[in-house]
Amino acid sequence: MSKVLETRLEIDLQALEYNYKLLKSYLSTKTKIMGVVKAFAYGTDSIIIGKHLVKIGVQHLAVAYIEEGVRLRKAGVEAPILVFYPQLEEIQKLIDFQLTPSVYNHRFLEGLCEELALHEIDSFGIHLKINTGLNRLGFEIDDLNTILQHLKAERKIKMVGLFTHLAASGNKDEVEFTKGQISKFEQARQFFENHLPYIFESHICNSSGILNYPDAEYDMVRAGIALYGYGNNPKEHKMLKAVASLKTVIAQLRMIQKGDSVGYERKFKAERETKIATLPLGYADGISRSFGNGKAQVLINHQKAPIIGNVCMDTLMLDVTGIDCEEGDEVEIFGKNHTVLDFDIEQQTIPYEVITRISQRVTRVLV
Ligand SMILES: *Cc1c(COP(=O)(O)O)cnc(C)c1O
Repeated sequence: MSKVLETRLEIDLQALEYNYKLLKSYLSTKTKIMGVVKAFAYGTDSIIIGKHLVKIGVQHLAVAYIEEGVRLRKAGVEAPILVFYPQLEEIQKLIDFQLTPSVYNHRFLEGLCEELALHEIDSFGIHLKINTGLNRLGFEIDDLNTILQHLKAERKIKMVGLFTHLAASGNKDEVEFTKGQISKFEQARQFFENHLPYIFESHICNSSGILNYPDAEYDMVRAGIALYGYGNNPKEHKMLKAVASLKTVIAQLRMIQKGDSVGYERKFKAERETKIATLPLGYADGISRSFGNGKAQVLINHQKAPIIGNVCMDTLMLDVTGIDCEEGDEVEIFGKNHTVLDFDIEQQTIPYEVITRISQRVTRVLV
């Protein structure tokens, strides 16, 4: 048998391609896809995923922080990279590594102008972010005139993109609100279209926006979670394929008797003879303690086994009574056969959180 690393996050590029093609089938052929690879490509590997996305036809990439963009550039990625939350302190790197900032407030816009004044640059592209209701980052609709004056005065800056972010594109109860966000955005788009002497690209949809608001495609969409195989509801989710599978092996098996306990604080107490499996991964690997004490299940030899007792830093224990298994057997924490949605407990968390939490201690392997 070939040696496999005990705890590993397997990355399946065919699944990524499948999800990409599925999203593409929802879009008109001229609409561009921006692949969102922030947070290590949702906990996988931003370089492997970023490079592969470009290879299969994604025209743009997006990250949250400048440093994430720098990593991609250093790995040889040449596609345009939008940085959602650039920090003023690192503004110089935007220029050095040809990253495109999302500009969302006056402070950043002014900082950028000051920096550009120091460089011999004719034209520096930015995407302007408008707040339409998420109330996180972005200029207000009331700011449009001021921004326009700024853009006209600062010849070096070119608004190559205009965008906003939807607050609840996956929520059927918020259709009216979402439509309101879209029409606010449309107002901003028309304003700039009428007043700027050049064209720019507009984008609004994240993954569930693509699936639920086909009329709001604009020039580009920003796909994140769906590329990695997760939707915002079970129906969306069923159509997609999980890119990441977190796997490990059974480190040790033991039988305990009625009254025996398992783990710290003795949180699990056996009510009968119980078969216990110990896995070599814990909260330091990204398995939240909230998944302990029966709240989540993993997959062993096609059967589900609950996590029992408190999750430890480097290990966790399962009740595998009645499951045919041996030390060294493979366990799928989540992935292809056992999705995060199954793993997800009582809506206390979301797939985004579960997958991005897998720590860098876990080896990433391509399959
Ligand atoms: C993370 C992010 C996305 C991607 O959202 P998904 O729901 O994962 O598709 C798009 N736009 C912005 C601004 C983001 O921060």
